Amino acid sequence: MDAIRDAVLEGADGDVVANLAMPESFRAAVVRADEQDMFEGIPSEEKDPRKSTHIDEVPLPELAPDEAYVAVMASSINFNTVWTSIFEPLPTFQFLKRLAKESVWGARHDQPFHVMGSDAAGVVLRVGSAVRLWKPGDAVTVHCNYVDDQDPSSHDDSMLASNQRIWGFESNFGGLAEIALVRANQLMPKPAHLTWEEAAVNALTNSTSYRMIVSPNGAQMTQGQTVLVWGASGGIGAYACQYVLDGGGTPVGVVSSPDRAALLHEMGVEHVIDRKAEGYRFWSDEHTQDPGEWRRLGKKIRELAGADPDIVFEHPGRQTMGASVFVAKRGGLIITCAATSGYTIEYDNRYLWMNLKTIKGCHFANYREAWAANQAIRDGKVHPTLSQVFPLDQTGEATYQVHHNLHEGKLGVLCLAPEEGLGVTDPGRRERLLPQITLFRRHA
Ligand code: NDP
Repeated sequence: MDAIRDAVLEGADGDVVANLAMPESFRAAVVRADEQDMFEGIPSEEKDPRKSTHIDEVPLPELAPDEAYVAVMASSINFNTVWTSIFEPLPTFQFLKRLAKESVWGARHDQPFHVMGSDAAGVVLRVGSAVRLWKPGDAVTVHCNYVDDQDPSSHDDSMLASNQRIWGFESNFGGLAEIALVRANQLMPKPAHLTWEEAAVNALTNSTSYRMIVSPNGAQMTQGQTVLVWGASGGIGAYACQYVLDGGGTPVGVVSSPDRAALLHEMGVEHVIDRKAEGYRFWSDEHTQDPGEWRRLGKKIRELAGADPDIVFEHPGRQTMGASVFVAKRGGLIITCAATSGYTIEYDNRYLWMNLKTIKGCHFANYREAWAANQAIRDGKVHPTLSQVFPLDQTGEATYQVHHNLHEGKLGVLCLAPEEGLGVTDPGRRERLLPQITLFRRHA
C-alpha cells in the first residue's frame, strides 16, 4: 500500500500508476455481520458507533469490466454512516444479500463485513475492460448513485432505476477505506483547487442539495423565492443555503446555537432562526402537535423574510414536518429527503390541500445532477463545508459526532493521505477562494 500512496503523493503519471501491483487486501472501516444484533433493545441515542466500527484488513474484490479501483486519499462521514453503524433502521447486511442475488458480480458484496462510506476523493488505480472515459492516474471524486446502466429503467432519470442503490450503504467496498470499488459511472473530476479532504466531503450531500433545490427533479428554485432550510449548517443544509444564494433566492436558515447562526451569517445567510433559543415545541407530547407553535414559527419567518416560504427544505422528519407543511406558502413545495427524527410523519392535511401545497420526495442525484454539483464546486460557486478531519482509525469517533449533532457541515476522514493539506493542483484558484473554502474550519 505504501507504493500506491507514494505514487499518488508524487503525482505519478498514468503509466506508472497502471503498473503498480494491487495488494491482496487493504484497511477499511467496517461493521461486522456477527455484531449486527449488538445494540438490540438499546435506545437509538445510546447506540455507539465507536463500538460497532472497526478498522479491519479486508480482501480486495475482483474488478468487474465496468468498474475501477480508486486509491482513496480521503473520505467523509455521512448520516448513512451513522445508520450503518447503529444498524438502523435495519442492518445493511440485508442490502448486501439482496445485491448478491442479482449477478455474479453482485455476489462479491455479500461478506461478513460491510466497508462503509459513500464519499471518496483519490486516484484511479485500475479500470475494467469496459471503462472508456477514465484511466489510471486520474484524480477523481466519487458520487454514490450506484446503478446498472444496462437496466432500461435507469435511463432518463437514473434515480428512478428499479435497482438504484447508494454505494457504500446498499453496496459493499465503500469509501472509508484505502481502496474503493466503484462503477465507472460514479467518477467525476476532482476539483483542482481543493485538498484531498476538502474534495472528499462534497459529493453525497452537495449533489443531494443540488437535486433538491436546483434540479427540475427537485424544487427547481427560481430567483426571488424564499426557502426555509432546516439544519442549515449541517451536511445537506449548508450546501442548500449556497444553492439558494447562488440562484438569487432568500434562504431562511434554522439552526440550534448562536455559533451556528454566526456561521450562517458569515456564509451570507441574512435570516437565521435559532430553534433552541426560540424554544419551539412543535409536539406538546409524544402524540400531539401544537399548531400554535407552527404559527409562531411562521410568524418569525414572515418577520425576517417578509414572506412565507415558497420552498421548505425538509429532512428532520417527524419533529418538524407538521410545521413545514403549515409554514409553506399557498401553492408552496415541501421537498423532503429524510426523516432523521422519525419517519412516521404527521401533519394536518387541511393545510396541504386547502392551500394547494405539495410534498415531494427526493433522493440523492443522478449522474448529470452530481456532475453539475461537482462542477459548481470546481467553478468556485459552491464551497466545501469541511469543519474537522479525522484519521481512518477514528471513523467511529467521527460517526459518533454526527450521530449526536456535535459537528458543523461535514467531517472528513484521511484514508491514504498521511496528513491534511495535500492534493491541490491549482494553487492560484485556491488562493482566491481560500476564505470561503476554510469558513467551516474556522468555526469548528
Ligand atoms: P447532519 O447531521 O449533518 O445535519 C442535520 C441537521 O439537522 C443538524 O445540523 C441539525 O441542525 C438539524 N436537526 C437535527 N435534528 C433536528 C430536529 N429534530 N429538528 C430540527 N432540526 C434538526 O445530517 P445531513 O445534513 O448530512 O443529513 C440530514 C438527513 O438527510 C439525514 O437523515 C440523512 O440521512 C439524510 N440524507 C438523505 C439523503 C438522500 O439522498 N435521501 C442524502 C443526504 C442526507 P440544528 O441542530 O443546528 O438545527
